[in-house]
Amino acid sequence: MARIAIFSSSFGVYTPEAIERLRSIADISRIELKGRSLSEDEAIEALRGFDILILGGGCIVTERVLRETGLKVVARHGVGLDNVDVEAATKLGIPILYTPHANARAVAEHTFALILSFSRRVTLAHEYVRGLRTTPPRFIGFELEGKKLGVIGFGAIGRIVASIGRGFGMSILVYDPYVDSKFIEDSGCRPVDLETLLRESDIVTIHVPLTKETYHMIGERELKLMKPASLLVNTARGSVVDESALVKALKEGWIAGAALDVFEEEPLKPDNPLLSMDNVVATPHIAFLTVESVRRMDMMLVEDIKRILSGRKPVRIANPEVLKKISLI
Ligand code: NAD
Repeated sequence: MARIAIFSSSFGVYTPEAIERLRSIADISRIELKGRSLSEDEAIEALRGFDILILGGGCIVTERVLRETGLKVVARHGVGLDNVDVEAATKLGIPILYTPHANARAVAEHTFALILSFSRRVTLAHEYVRGLRTTPPRFIGFELEGKKLGVIGFGAIGRIVASIGRGFGMSILVYDPYVDSKFIEDSGCRPVDLETLLRESDIVTIHVPLTKETYHMIGERELKLMKPASLLVNTARGSVVDESALVKALKEGWIAGAALDVFEEEPLKPDNPLLSMDNVVATPHIAFLTVESVRRMDMMLVEDIKRILSGRKPVRIANPEVLKKISLI
């Protein structure tokens, strides 16, 4: 029987059926991480002898991890592949399964949960009514109707965010050089370059993957282009934004606020300066976390792992080129 290691705090937790289905075809071990990340050496130690890794956060699957553990398949419980060396896996003939589109609705809705928390001062008001603040904060908020929403990255999540934004009566600016402008226009949005989006938007929301190209794509220069009354929302990956530049922007009033689900260092450290700022709304990387989205992710991975274990081609694979050269487990 194949041996599967689960390195994810959500896989199978809300959908026990996912675990049951795998148990009938594989030996499963859940490795408890308790909110922390493993070093490369710890990951190698923990994963030796396993065939398949189901990966949430928890560790970075480097080339060394792949080589020294002998893993045959990595199944990413999510869509971001920034914690897997896909190039090395491809070179080694290791398929990387993942779950595109499964959590797009959840992340898009969470993006608006963050936007509305900021625009209507929900978190500050909540702290006040609970007695955590003695003096009333400035409760006055603003409406979304008529505002400009700048969407960076027009993929699965960005498109749903744009459509929810339109529902609020916002006009939508989109920056995504990899998506046809005509498609963006046909979706009721205005395709623009990044500078125009930053200069004109009241709310800027990020939905790009973390890659070499998007690392720190929002830094001092970009934050200075934004309107002083604007809000930056990041539910993509922490390192797309230069966090020290963001702290400076928030302290010095280059922008009005930030609503963040992701950070350069996760799990979040209590002394992260962003957490003590009244103009920041923060959640601990939970945008994907709805019953519906986790169920979709669980079942997608179970189906594709079953396919691989029975010698069939998986449906959602980030490096399909490996299928030509591997003999499946
Ligand atoms: P997707 O692949 O469907 O869309 C990404 C879009 O970004 C694509 O349209 C692509 O063309 C665009 N893009 C790539 N590089 C760009 C660049 N330099 N400038 C502008 N646009 C660029 O992915 P998705 O499902 O929409 O997810 C986006 C990201 O959100 C993921 O990669 C992941 O990092 C993050 N995410 C976070 C959570 C969470 O819980 N916080 C959950 C899911 C996904």
